[in-house]
Amino acid sequence: MAITDKIYVKNHRQLASQLETNVPKGAFKGATLDLLFQGEGLEKLDDATRERVLDFASDFLDCDCQDNPYCGCPERKFIQYLLELRAQGLGPDAIVDVMSDDYMVYAYAGDVLSFLDSGVRTLEAAEGLAGVDGYPEKQAKIREAKDELAR
Ligand SMILES: [Zn+2]
Repeated sequence: MAITDKIYVKNHRQLASQLETNVPKGAFKGATLDLLFQGEGLEKLDDATRERVLDFASDFLDCDCQDNPYCGCPERKFIQYLLELRAQGLGPDAIVDVMSDDYMVYAYAGDVLSFLDSGVRTLEAAEGLAGVDGYPEKQAKIREAKDELAR
């Protein structure tokens, strides 16, 4: 399961009652994305909540793909966001805190940790391959990305 399947809407019951509709717990569930993408009823949210929901929509659902929000960009962008937080030196707990502050979503720190670990392993494999194939520049770049993730 991808890390984006383990990102949850914080206070989703409260959100659902403000919106007077059913909101799935998963932030990247189709119905949640639809809700955000269509923006219907978002005016019913309190200011702090609405701001975060709109930030989430504008940061992750802003692509021009025809099948938006099902094009995969939201998930890719969110993963990019997680990697950027990691590159800033944040650990799993801090990453969860920041995503809650930024977008009112959360994950379990253990899931974030295994996501980061598997990222390191993927990059390790790629680094090895680049070495075998004789792409030293590529290998160095991958190693750099890996070290950033692993530190
Ligand atoms: Zn897209």
